[in-house]
Amino acid sequence: MFFKSWIFIEFLKLRFTRILFRNHSASLQHYRWRKFQSVLKKSPFYRPFILNDSSLVNLPIIDKKIFMSNFDKINTIGIELSEALRIATRAENERDFAPMIDGITVGLSSGTIGNRGVFLASKKERVQWVACILDRVVGFSFKRRKVAFFLRANSNLYSSVQSKLLMFQFFDLLEPLEVLLEKVQKYQPDILVGQPSLLIEIARKKEIGKLTISPKKIISVAEVLTPEDRDFIQRIFQQTIHQVYQCTEGLLATTCKNGVLHFNEDYLIIEKQYLDQSKTRFHPIITDLKRSSQPIVRYELNDIIHEKKTCSCGSKFLAIDSIEGRSDDILVFNSIDGAQVKIFPDFFRKAIILADQRIIDYTVVQISTKKLSVFVGNNKELEDKCLISINQLLEKFRVESIEIEFVKEKLHEKATKLRRIRNESK
Ligand SMILES: [Zn+2]
Repeated sequence: MFFKSWIFIEFLKLRFTRILFRNHSASLQHYRWRKFQSVLKKSPFYRPFILNDSSLVNLPIIDKKIFMSNFDKINTIGIELSEALRIATRAENERDFAPMIDGITVGLSSGTIGNRGVFLASKKERVQWVACILDRVVGFSFKRRKVAFFLRANSNLYSSVQSKLLMFQFFDLLEPLEVLLEKVQKYQPDILVGQPSLLIEIARKKEIGKLTISPKKIISVAEVLTPEDRDFIQRIFQQTIHQVYQCTEGLLATTCKNGVLHFNEDYLIIEKQYLDQSKTRFHPIITDLKRSSQPIVRYELNDIIHEKKTCSCGSKFLAIDSIEGRSDDILVFNSIDGAQVKIFPDFFRKAIILADQRIIDYTVVQISTKKLSVFVGNNKELEDKCLISINQLLEKFRVESIEIEFVKEKLHEKATKLRRIRNESK
């Protein structure tokens, strides 16, 4: 079947089931879970569980480490980790964006060496991904639209939906910012897709009149979009900023018309691993009922999610109030009594932005349990205010005295994901 017609059929199926089961996602999940058993029976890892009992709760909760150490047994197509790693690493070094083994795409997740995930996707899974992006992110229209995609690496997935109605242009984040801005000015996109740190740069240039693009839709991807970054981009472009919450494990959540992220619960089962007593933060444990080459079952992500109880759009899919960052970025100190103190990134974000409303660009990096490196715009007055604010926060948590160093440049390596608050002490 032609790739594009296949995408269109999957798009219709997705949209149809979403509308049909709009208020009955539990029954859709139940139906899909039963069908999913046949996939799990092909996985040497999951087969024994399914033969004994077919309830989801009896399957083990796994994380990235367990997933990777059981790679050979989890996937249903007999691909070994060593082979997948060899192909994916070689492709990345050669900037080949479509490495394959027997028609299966192999992808590497970002992360430190030795901690990278390897992910597999069959042609059918790629088609379903594109269909979902069309249904929930780009939207269907009979008008001709140009999409500007700012990414670290191109993917033939995007160009696969290239048509007379939808044109895609890939902008390589490894190029200098000035060159990218010049190109996007010339291209005049209708839809702008990029990570928030780049959208901020674009918004700043538009604010001072150095860029005159007027996209009708802006989609933030890859990094956490903080409320203040979102408000700034919204103010400059005068529109709701949309988001895609996606990782190599799957397309997890997309925004509704209100700009609120909702998990795609028509094909995902989301369980919550709460992180605090007040149950405000949780790690999502995901089961993707659409995967077939490499089942994702009860896979705990280390993203810290804040739940939104209701959304006026009417969708019953679980809504996200904010994504705080990752649990790896919880800052860890010693208390004055010698105990360990853990502080969620959001406390630092608030301490910084509430110190002075002029602070919109900042980074806080924990170097060790006794040292923080902070950037707030290379301005002595703002630094003094932040120092007071951070010290008040540390005092509240009874943290022993630490060194707080202010640096002149943002701690962000070009073309990598910006994490404003992060722990690099490990
Ligand atoms: Zn909504």
